Amino acid sequence: MSKSEQLFAEAQQYIPGGVNSPVRAFRAVGGTPLFIRRAEGAYLYDADDKRYIDYVQSWGPMVLGHAHPDVIEAVVEQAQSGLSFGAPTELETELAEELCRLWPNMDLVRFVNSGTEATMSAIRLARGYTGRDKIVKFEGCYHGHSDSLLVKAGSGALTMGVPSSPGVPASLADHTITLNYNDADGVRQCFDEIGDQIACIIVEPVAGNMNCIPPLPGFLETLRQVCDQHGALLILDEVMTGFRVSLTGAQGHFGVEADITTLGKVIGGGMPVGAFGGKREIMEKIAPLGPIYQAGTLSGNPVAMVAGLETLRLVQEPGLYEDLTAKTDRLVEGVLAAAREAGIPLTANRAGSMFGFFFTDEPQVSNYQQVMACDNERFNRFFHGMLAEGVYLAPASYEAGFMSAAHSDKDIEDTIAAARKVFGQLG
Ligand code: PMP
Repeated sequence: MSKSEQLFAEAQQYIPGGVNSPVRAFRAVGGTPLFIRRAEGAYLYDADDKRYIDYVQSWGPMVLGHAHPDVIEAVVEQAQSGLSFGAPTELETELAEELCRLWPNMDLVRFVNSGTEATMSAIRLARGYTGRDKIVKFEGCYHGHSDSLLVKAGSGALTMGVPSSPGVPASLADHTITLNYNDADGVRQCFDEIGDQIACIIVEPVAGNMNCIPPLPGFLETLRQVCDQHGALLILDEVMTGFRVSLTGAQGHFGVEADITTLGKVIGGGMPVGAFGGKREIMEKIAPLGPIYQAGTLSGNPVAMVAGLETLRLVQEPGLYEDLTAKTDRLVEGVLAAAREAGIPLTANRAGSMFGFFFTDEPQVSNYQQVMACDNERFNRFFHGMLAEGVYLAPASYEAGFMSAAHSDKDIEDTIAAARKVFGQLG
């Protein structure tokens, strides 16, 4: 029995399914989740001290790689001054100022503790600001697990086969309209019919919770247009894409303006942080300035703030995003070539340092239906083959992969060599 198997058995005695977030349980791919003891740079080390090249990177936050010495030093130093005060610190202002400086249309920003909180609060703000109840989201997009947003969601909600969770009141879910990602005509039609009832559209500007699906040309622009025409707000959920697709996320990359932006993951450098921010006149409606309530005991936590500040300082080093994109391209091209050599039909998508592979004959995958039609069984065998070769991919075919600044050329070559070997065994 491996140490992970032993630890998983123990965990299941006290924690539902042995995990604190469902997708970690390896339900989709089968087998036992790795229990991780430590991580450094591009590598995870499991409880048996086996090393893996990691393309999950804690599901996105670790864009610099794990345990960057400068981030760790900042965290350790700050921790010695106290872990939480429940009162303002200048660190919050510093991080807020940095976000407002870098991001277009971000005049004010509020920190929370997770992406879920960020999107939940952004939705409340949009509803309160517009005085409307209905929201539009897209099938396969995941925005955390708050009630209004857990309707036809992606990520773990897809692998569980519960697109809408029990416990979400039907009367609330009624206000969530779910449309097809990348279907601009569907969006126009919906707004033509009931545009005056819609508070907001929330969208992942690159979908990363149904594998990796970039927006088709014109899709995000259409969202902006219909929101302007009908007085609705556009929420770009950049929890995953922020500081990952580019320094200014998908907004900078695709040139689309949000009314409210949600952030998380990278801005906490591995600590629990989320944020929502946007135009002044909208953000001024939040308490204590305005009547829309939102709060948090640990929000703006000082240790989390310094991890974010240090991470954002480091990602602004010249060339970092160019290098990440080039490495992602090399990895994707190499794996595609290895699949071709082995006669395995494989398609890939990428956006900045996000990528995804699809076991399909289709030359392009750009919506949820196509993702669902991919060969999951083959992905699962690929996943376990790669794991045996020391490469850690997300344990479900509905998740994006992530490159970090710490991955070396050799790590990428080793990954491609592992893929070549595993494709040879897939048949
Ligand atoms: N929005 C997006 C786009 C996400 O990818 C996620 C998490 N993967 C969330 C929101 C929720 O964030 P958290 O898990 O921190 O609550």
